[in-house]
Amino acid sequence: MDCIFCRIVQGTIPSRKIYEDEHVLAFHDIQPLAPVHALIIPKKHIPTMNDAGPEDWALIGEVHRAAQLVARELGVEGTGYRLINNCGADGGQVVFHIHYHLLGGGKLGPLNAREMQ
Ligand code: 5GP
Ligand code: ZN
Repeated sequence: MDCIFCRIVQGTIPSRKIYEDEHVLAFHDIQPLAPVHALIIPKKHIPTMNDAGPEDWALIGEVHRAAQLVARELGVEGTGYRLINNCGADGGQVVFHIHYHLLGGGKLGPLNAREMQ
């Protein structure tokens, strides 16, 4: 399967890792959009949030748990951050392996209808 994030999990594409356990991996985004821009992913290949089934919700919970640890590790726990999952075409998803962006390290703009193009 040709998935960039599966390759990062396997280690055939390098990444700057922040956190790893049996089910979850977190690493720095290659094109950061904020001073802190991490990606948190389940190691299991699930293309989009639409594809997560009942057996996956505990895993998605683990991804959120890891995001909390990453925020602490990167020093934005106190100042705050945004955790985003892009799903599908209108969501702007480019890599079809579920991931959460953790953005912080500065004040982010409001997330509202003006986000629409
Ligand atoms: P999406 O638009 O699918 O939500 O976000 C995909 C993200 O993955 C983008 O922010 C992009 O910069 C990041 N990305 C794509 N390829 C790589 C890569 O090879 N390594 C890392 N660390 N990030 C990547
Ligand atoms: Zn994958």
